[in-house]
Amino acid sequence: MSERPILVIGGGPVGMVTALALARQGLPVQVFEAEAMINDMPRAATTHAATLEMLAGLGLVDEVIHRGLVEPLFRIWDRESGKMVAEFDFGILKDETPYPFAVQCEQHKLAGMTLERLRGFPDVTVDFSARVTALTQSADGVEIEVDGAAGPRRIAGSYAIGTDGGRSTVRKALNIEFEGYTHPERFMILTTTEDIGLRYPGCTRNYITDPEAWFSLFKVSGDERGPLWRVLSATRPEETDAELMHPDATERRLQNFLPKRGRYDVVHRNLYHVHQRVAASFRNSRVFLAGDAAHVNNPLGGLGLNFGVHDAVEITTLLGQVIRGEAPDHVLDLYDRHRRPLNIEFVQQQTVANKKRMEEKDPAARQRDFDQLRRTMDDPALHRAHVRRASLLESVRKRALADA
Ligand SMILES: Cc1cc2nc3c(=O)[nH]c(=O)nc-3n(C[C@H](O)[C@H](O)[C@H](O)COP(=O)(O)OP(=O)(O)OC[C@H]3O[C@@H](n4cnc5c(N)ncnc54)[C@H](O)[C@@H]3O)c2cc1C
Repeated sequence: MSERPILVIGGGPVGMVTALALARQGLPVQVFEAEAMINDMPRAATTHAATLEMLAGLGLVDEVIHRGLVEPLFRIWDRESGKMVAEFDFGILKDETPYPFAVQCEQHKLAGMTLERLRGFPDVTVDFSARVTALTQSADGVEIEVDGAAGPRRIAGSYAIGTDGGRSTVRKALNIEFEGYTHPERFMILTTTEDIGLRYPGCTRNYITDPEAWFSLFKVSGDERGPLWRVLSATRPEETDAELMHPDATERRLQNFLPKRGRYDVVHRNLYHVHQRVAASFRNSRVFLAGDAAHVNNPLGGLGLNFGVHDAVEITTLLGQVIRGEAPDHVLDLYDRHRRPLNIEFVQQQTVANKKRMEEKDPAARQRDFDQLRRTMDDPALHRAHVRRASLLESVRKRALADA
């Protein structure tokens, strides 16, 4: 058993889950998080079946379900006609997963409940306000430089896992390319306490396609103020922050999508750059990348964090086997060999296709896509294949088959 800790750089949801998966194997872990606390801005909420299965293995799933909203359905709409194009039901998967649904549980809740669990392990430390600024490695260890309240310090570890998000310092320190592209437009998330889902009754996960102004509409469980509805939409590249974030502008945006009498009670206004990028490698010797440090994608489909949790489970399983001497060092190669192509096949391809569907301008292409969606919905085998892919169950089963 290695005595030096495994260093987890970045205490977002993927970093916290990574640390817990290591701690539960009795491995020593140190987590370094640059910010003073867990970021609670509205980002991921949709947690899919494949991820719920893994969170069950980590003792987290009951709390995720309890603190989230369970939703077996998702719907695609045509904004122009106001008609639903297709409804998909994860319930069709009930014979192959104990979790035939998605759970809308905000990512800060997942990170927070994982942090709570970590506090129970004597060999785990989690340092907030601790920004990692540099990383070096040798044949048998890694060393990082951490900037904290007490000034810079150096920490040695056996391995490091970079879970430090899309702008990853770890990825840059390793000189690993972040291949792909950035969309010209940004996405805006607005949340409100108003029960705007009444316009799209019966389902809390709705994608409203439109060649001019698409939006998606999701409900999350929220906090003491009660549930929140989230409206996600694209902005135009030329629009400035000041123009977009002005309360009158966000009010106009919401009224345009969902007209109502009186002003909206807006809880969050957030703008995000949107990328489709995958690191050229998820590993350099004793250092691994996981979560957004390894791959970023647009949020349509709710796949990025889900896949990051799957990264965390895979790398921590492999590391545990190697450190305990149950497997040779070279099994660590499997991490990059499997995770990178799986991300491209399941996350990049699906999210790019989802965005294209939402914004397609060619009427004939829209019609073809709608016809295909309806055929998929109506045919049980196609319906099952569609939701297996959307829930990432197919990617997880494919990975498991590679070991069989
Ligand atoms: C609007 C929106 C909606 C989304 N919806 C979904 C969804 O429904 N489902 C889904 O699966 N995904 C979704 N995503 C994607 C999801 O939010 C990300 O995939 C997720 O945050 C990745 O988690 P992470 O822990 O890898 O990275 P992050 O959440 O970015 O966390 C990285 C952490 O590292 C810290 N850090 C950075 N640099 C350093 C450093 N040098 N030293 C120490 N710490 C550092 C940061 O402070 C941060 O806390 C959405 C994203 C957006 C923007």
